Amino acid sequence: MTIGDIAAFLNRRFPRAYAESFDNTGLLCGEPEVEVKGILVAHDALESVVDEAVERGLNMIVTYHPIVFKGLKSLTGRNYVERSVMKALRKGVAIYALHTALDNHRDGVSALTARALGLTDLKVLIPQEDNLRVLVTYVPHARADALREALFAAGAGVIGNYDSCSYNVEGYGTFRPLEGAQPFVGEQGKVHREPETRVSVVFPRHLTGAVERAMREAHPYEEPAYEIYATVNRHPEIGIGTLGSLPAPLDEAAFLQQVKKVLQTPVLRHSAMRGKPVERVAVVGGSGAFAIDAARAAGADVLLTGDMKYHDFFAGEGEILLIDAGHYETERFVTGYLTRILSEKFPNFAVVESEGDTNPVYYYM
Ligand SMILES: [Zn+2]
Repeated sequence: MTIGDIAAFLNRRFPRAYAESFDNTGLLCGEPEVEVKGILVAHDALESVVDEAVERGLNMIVTYHPIVFKGLKSLTGRNYVERSVMKALRKGVAIYALHTALDNHRDGVSALTARALGLTDLKVLIPQEDNLRVLVTYVPHARADALREALFAAGAGVIGNYDSCSYNVEGYGTFRPLEGAQPFVGEQGKVHREPETRVSVVFPRHLTGAVERAMREAHPYEEPAYEIYATVNRHPEIGIGTLGSLPAPLDEAAFLQQVKKVLQTPVLRHSAMRGKPVERVAVVGGSGAFAIDAARAAGADVLLTGDMKYHDFFAGEGEILLIDAGHYETERFVTGYLTRILSEKFPNFAVVESEGDTNPVYYYM
């Protein structure tokens, strides 16, 4: 098993295609062909985390935050980012970062925090745009089943809790094979009329290559006619933030207490209480002040996030309780989750969660 194999697994599970454009995700340093000795999962790949990996005999670090976020024009060790990357390179430790590729996944940072708080009926708060594609192709009736199966096997035709979704119309196609053609049916120089099924399926954008390949391989025609187009409806399971409901309404003070306990934080900053119970809760792990309007529009009683500024607290307009529980605290379930899925998938070598706490923020009580 190589560093590249682990990177490929993570990219299949949390496609980098959905990371935000400002982000820097994926394999940040390390050679893909090197064998993996073991993985350390950490929040931030600080120099101390690289040291921990080396001490524990592990040569790959999987992190939530990318240690390299902006471009590096030189590597001289003048700041904590450069020192960490230089040490990782010297010691042969690879670093892979997920960040917004994970945020935009339905099991992302916000959903993990929402589940820890006991929220149910989880939905994506701000679905990402431009993520759904449709493929339409035309195939002889007798080959339609095999073609549909190939498309489904490539990941097309999944809508919510349903798979094998397609729409099919029977009609006929016409074509004239020209010189050099090797037609599946019909004769050179003659217009042929073939009973065909028009098959259409939806799929998420990152599967475009795989679905197109599967269609070409399963289609009997030398030159299959097909269209792939983008739709303006949004994929309901790809996007930032989570909206969920408490099993029973709580008064605002009780909810704040629960948040403190679950997120293991001694202090919360929040806007004025509304004097109404809390039931629908929006969660955005990390910095989520940008989601205040979306949370209000979704009818949330609360937005739980981190990194809120003074003026952000006004933006709730008394309609929504805004809670700043800290950037790290609202992301704290990521490393445990990644450790679990990596050790389930790769039981043959060590996958361990970092023992260090990389939160740079302290509270003086
Ligand atoms: Zn963050």
